[in-house]
Amino acid sequence: MSEQQATNGEQRDTKSALWKGWCRKCPNCGNGPLLHGYLTVRDHCTVCRQELHHHRADDGPAYLTIVIVGHIMAPLLMVVFETWRPDPLTLFTIFAVGCVGLSLYLLPRLKGMVVAYQWAHRMHGFAAPAKKEAGRLAS
Ligand SMILES: [Zn+2]
Repeated sequence: MSEQQATNGEQRDTKSALWKGWCRKCPNCGNGPLLHGYLTVRDHCTVCRQELHHHRADDGPAYLTIVIVGHIMAPLLMVVFETWRPDPLTLFTIFAVGCVGLSLYLLPRLKGMVVAYQWAHRMHGFAAPAKKEAGRLAS
């Protein structure tokens, strides 16, 4: 019943929504898939019918991915180079594959978290329907 309560203007749990987003699940029910394919956000949840097309993730997940991958791989590159002094081609190959692999792993999960954060904080069109109507009438 929490999904019913969540649409009635109550506070939404950000932590739980972020975890559901990381798991690429609907931030409302946690069961329906959030993404269609690799990165496309579904228009609505197939389980609870939560509208998801309101998201405005834009470039946010890509920026977060770059920041995280950079902060993991750059120090690791220094440590590996200083410790083992591998052949430059070997070092490049390992880190190129590592950076691409980590980026591909993180990108959809961070997109799920960004969409879930927007949902939890009722950003953009994720506000409760009653609230949206009130806002429209006031303006
Ligand atoms: Zn759902």
